[in-house]
Amino acid sequence: MTEAGHRPPHLAVVLVGSNAASETYVNAKIKACSAIGYESSLLHFPPEISQTMLLHTIDELNENEDIDGFIVQLPLPAHIDENSVINRVLPAKDVDGFHPINVGKMALGLDAFISATPGGIVELLRRYEIETSGKHCVVLGRSNIVGGPMSILMRRNTYPGNSTVTIAHSRTQNLKEVCLSADILIAAIGKPEFVTADMVKEGAVVVDVGINRIDADNEKGYKLVGDVAFDEVAEKCSYITPVPGGVGPMTIAYLLNNTMIAARKRM
Ligand code: NDP
Repeated sequence: MTEAGHRPPHLAVVLVGSNAASETYVNAKIKACSAIGYESSLLHFPPEISQTMLLHTIDELNENEDIDGFIVQLPLPAHIDENSVINRVLPAKDVDGFHPINVGKMALGLDAFISATPGGIVELLRRYEIETSGKHCVVLGRSNIVGGPMSILMRRNTYPGNSTVTIAHSRTQNLKEVCLSADILIAAIGKPEFVTADMVKEGAVVVDVGINRIDADNEKGYKLVGDVAFDEVAEKCSYITPVPGGVGPMTIAYLLNNTMIAARKRM
């Protein structure tokens, strides 16, 4: 693109407040932009920013010709309505794929920005040539940003997809039995090492989305673990993603992929 005289893709990231985990994710996104030659901008606001001011910032980013795509890092402080924020982002710049128009188009199999975590997982399954057709995929968690879209992508009539999908959540009964019947188990619940070996079928493919901080006797005072008890489950399954280092980096890669698509569409 730059050789053809275009500027590189430009991603903007809006961060509100000082949630330590959010700051880490945002820094990783900005760093990844620089590593592959994208431009990036970080707009960091204090936690007390008003909703009106934040929406005004989004309007400016929507109109800014130099920005190809942007994200508003979630969660937001309690006084800000997340849905109002998500709805304000121009769908053509919504590289997180959270806007209802993108979610709706994705569900219908139309051209859309697919949200970065489920998109990254689908790419991971593709790159490792995991058979998904006709397999039983259990998605643990039904959030709008991970479990929900993940379940839709796995039942699409394409590869990766064509799975028979079960969505499990906090009201699911016989969760262990449900998980045990999974050929592909995607855990996105935010509970440290919740999925243990006795919940996993021999040879299953396990994707661990969870990022949980637990106390540890090290310099930082914490360490990151997933929703899956990695060591014991790894002995039983055929594939497993590590935490950190699995779905997290794929999420960032997919965000950058979406930003490239947004930039190309604007050329
Ligand atoms: P949410 O808290 O929004 O959703 C959690 C889901 O898990 C809910 O659907 C909830 O059910 C379900 N759940 C909670 N407890 C249980 C339980 N005991 N049994 C069964 N289901 C349960 O979380 P997110 O989807 O935003 O994130 C999930 C995890 O993924 C977190 O650890 C988060 O940090 C991580 N994450 C990682 C990303 C990455 O890049 N790797 C990106 C985004 C998130 P119910 O709906 O009934 O409440």
